[in-house]
Amino acid sequence: IDVIRETDPEIADAIVKEIERQKNKIELIASENFVSEAVMEAMGSPLTNKYAEGYPGKRYYGGCEFVDVVEDLARERLKKLFGAEHANVQPHSGAQANMAAYFALIKPGDTILGMNLAHGGHLTHGSKVNFSGKLYNIIPYGVREDTGFIDYEELERLAKEYRPKLIVAGASAYPRIIDFKKFKEIADSVGAYLMVDMAHIAGLVAAGLHPNPVDYSDVVTSTTHKTLRGPRGGIILSKEVHAKAIDKSVFPGVQGGPLMHVIAAKAVCFNEALKPEFKEYQKRIVKNAKALAEGLLDRKVNLVSGGTDNHLMLLDLRGTGVTGKDLERRLDYVGITANKNAIPNDPLGPNVTSGLRLGTPAVTTRGMNENDMDEIADIIYNVLKDENYVDTAKSRVKKLLDKYPLYE
Ligand code: PLP
Repeated sequence: IDVIRETDPEIADAIVKEIERQKNKIELIASENFVSEAVMEAMGSPLTNKYAEGYPGKRYYGGCEFVDVVEDLARERLKKLFGAEHANVQPHSGAQANMAAYFALIKPGDTILGMNLAHGGHLTHGSKVNFSGKLYNIIPYGVREDTGFIDYEELERLAKEYRPKLIVAGASAYPRIIDFKKFKEIADSVGAYLMVDMAHIAGLVAAGLHPNPVDYSDVVTSTTHKTLRGPRGGIILSKEVHAKAIDKSVFPGVQGGPLMHVIAAKAVCFNEALKPEFKEYQKRIVKNAKALAEGLLDRKVNLVSGGTDNHLMLLDLRGTGVTGKDLERRLDYVGITANKNAIPNDPLGPNVTSGLRLGTPAVTTRGMNENDMDEIADIIYNVLKDENYVDTAKSRVKKLLDKYPLYE
């Protein structure tokens, strides 16, 4: 940060404080992670200087010979990682990837079946405040009230009734395995495309710990910065028949020049994800999530669907007298970062909520294990029970963090 400090002390100061915050809090936001120094170095490289509209070998700018190497490597590694026929690594974000995928497959006004935001879906799966809800006729599906699992019968019924052009599977707050085969059968039965947004679970899929949506879908989108542990960004995988449409849809459809420094960082991330250690890392994420969930359940904290199969869980705070907003604030105060999250059929609004989402990708990167998860469950339980459980909580958090230094 020394160079920034010389020219821009205000920004340097904020960056240093953010690094300290990351080091000094237990990070349980399910969509966050800590990238490797190699990923970080690629992101901070002079590749940010390069304009490269177009694709490798077909650019609208000169001087692209080296960034072509980078983008080709990124695409090849990504295809290998998920067994995909075609890969586009240019989307600036998950939302942009979804926009480009919709634009490639369907037209404004067409009907989409997407998972209800309030049941764990993402904004881009049809929320009214998002372009997806404004441009398309959205029919939301969700989870069963009694089990918290996706209601596949209802999904099938809605598909038969509304005959969508596209079904979107994937979620931001769903703790269970998603049955992509079932989704595909339902999509096929009404002649709809199946698109899977695997943003949250991409790392688990890469490691073979979750069914691979590439085997069942027309198009798969993802972010690269969650369980996959890469830079902030998006990707699109597809069958070869959709390759041209997807590429045209990303550029020139919804984006201009690609972020070549970020694409380099994506390539570094995919290379890391192809290594055996990455599989071990993903296994530890899932084990840690199970241990954290069990630790909470043992202490009579309710979880939506009664547990987790993946990297995240959703606390159901109804009946505790504490809202999601309250618990997020209390935990932040003692050094644990998480986010309030609506639970299915939440009686409270999205700014308050009756839920809290917890995930283990970041703490697992830091090195924490199942015993640490039980310790964290106990701290959370005590903070939930007693607003004044602060000093002891803070010292227990610090003790845990001191065991696992970050970015030394
Ligand atoms: N899709 C899913 C399932 C997500 O959870 C998210 C992010 O939370 C996105 C898409 C959007 O990604 P981004 O924030 O990069 O636009």
